[in-house]
Amino acid sequence: MEREEQQQLRRRAEEKLDRKIDHLKDKLDDDSLRLLHELKVHQIELEMQNEELRRVQIELEQARDRYVDLFDSSPVGLLTLDRNGVVLEANRTAGELIGRERDHLLGVPLRVRVEERDKELFAQFLARCGRQPGGDAIELGLQRPEGPALDVRIECQTTGPAERPEHRLALIDITEKKKLEKREIQTQKIESLGVMAGGIAHDFNNLLTAMLGNISLARMFMDHGTPSAEKMEMAERAALRARDLTQRLLTFARGGEPLKKPVAVGELVREAAGLPLRGAPHRLEFDFPPQLWPAAADTGQLGQVVQNLVINAIQAMPGGGEIEIWGRNLELAADNVLGLPPGRYVRIAVRDQGPGIGPEVLEKIFDPYFTTKNEGSGLGLAVSRSIVERHGGRLTVDSAPGRGARFEIYLPAAEAEAPAPAMEAPAAIEPGEGRVLVMDDEEMVREVLAELLHALGYQAVTASDGKEALRLYEEARREGRPFVAVILDLVVPGGMGGEETMQKLQELDPAVKAIVSSGYSDTPVGRDYRRYGFAASLPKPYNLGQLSQVLHELLPAPAEQPG
Ligand code: ADP
Repeated sequence: MEREEQQQLRRRAEEKLDRKIDHLKDKLDDDSLRLLHELKVHQIELEMQNEELRRVQIELEQARDRYVDLFDSSPVGLLTLDRNGVVLEANRTAGELIGRERDHLLGVPLRVRVEERDKELFAQFLARCGRQPGGDAIELGLQRPEGPALDVRIECQTTGPAERPEHRLALIDITEKKKLEKREIQTQKIESLGVMAGGIAHDFNNLLTAMLGNISLARMFMDHGTPSAEKMEMAERAALRARDLTQRLLTFARGGEPLKKPVAVGELVREAAGLPLRGAPHRLEFDFPPQLWPAAADTGQLGQVVQNLVINAIQAMPGGGEIEIWGRNLELAADNVLGLPPGRYVRIAVRDQGPGIGPEVLEKIFDPYFTTKNEGSGLGLAVSRSIVERHGGRLTVDSAPGRGARFEIYLPAAEAEAPAPAMEAPAAIEPGEGRVLVMDDEEMVREVLAELLHALGYQAVTASDGKEALRLYEEARREGRPFVAVILDLVVPGGMGGEETMQKLQELDPAVKAIVSSGYSDTPVGRDYRRYGFAASLPKPYNLGQLSQVLHELLPAPAEQPG
């Protein structure tokens, strides 16, 4: 508007001048008239230049706005510092990252915002920065008025004369990267824990095999029902429970594919919940109706899920309180809210009367490593959900502040009935005959296994690795005294293991009957033994009854043999 007024003013002045010039034309000589004309042209030229300048100015203003906007909305924080590290300029992102108005950053040394432990490091970094031609970078923590410190990477370039340098800093938020690094470390820790647990479980299983084998043998020499026989029976039960414990250790450390079989849920849940509740001041309300369907589940893994839920419930009520655990049958129709295929399911609920979970925490509780506890791993629920989903089920939660928490497990029901637990119904002892070759690197295991085989009526020959086993097998065939069965240990440190031995045995004798017996539970060979040519799998430890059953199924009973 102002400019238009100016232009009008200008136009009127020019008209006046034109009139005056007209009036003067007759009185002026030619030179003066030319001069006048030149002046006018010059004036117009100036006006045009002026116009051009204004246009350039507008363009410059627009470009400046654009660059300020670019500077402000850059995804990284940008700062310039003077040689003392005082902030001269800061973009909007820098303010947002540090959690302060940009104006609050200006005129203050950036050092003030740096975490106490990193202050010295930062001072050295700035001093170094000017001397590095390509700039320098550092990772440190910045304090924020609220919340935890911010992990940032700071990249620095220094410009300007040596006596008055200016540091240009880029602040990059690396919280996510740090989190990933932390997770990576935790995952590695868990992995090495898994390897360690696997090794311990393996050694344990070998020891338990010797214990169980010897207990089985001792029981044979005792009259049934005597106090000593009863004590031996109790020792056997304890050894079998120790086996379950190693199994659970492995499940916790590794997860792994579930080995599903029909499971009586009530008993399993009661036992699993009992462990963390031992000695705790909590009341347990337990309701599992007898007609509950068995679930198709991996006992170790399902036990782990129940334990995790019960541990969380106990931790939610540190002073004690009621924990309710119940099971129900559930028939799901197609298009159910759980998104599960229609069919029969077993539903298990674990409910506490703790403080409950608010919506913002609730959406994160299944994330790996999410925890609100000082000493929490944040893995319990993540592992539990992954276990339940690998079973083809769902793990859900229903909670609100002040209302406690209810976790529910939905598991597909098993088609078959759950077998009675092995330790209560010992397998019947079936005598047999013939030569059995035993390969195991553990002398203790070889010895007890040979004795157990003798006790069953077999003749046992032992080998400490695959090479020896192959030699003995070939020799026996040549001499016309072939083995009726071979029991192979899977892992032989420093020697030929079960898998390779089996391949070679099959080349020698395609009809070989071999049993794989490993102290490592849940190996691919143990799980899928037929694919590797084995006729049966007998995980360690086992007792006399289990050994006799496996051999009995594999070999025709002596009475049924022709001749
Ligand atoms: P952790 O127990 O190691 O923290 P979890 O994965 O088991 O790991 O649990 C994650 C988070 O879920 C817990 O830190 C807690 O905040 C919340 N949570 C789980 N169970 C309950 C519960 N029963 N009551 C209240 N909060 C719970």
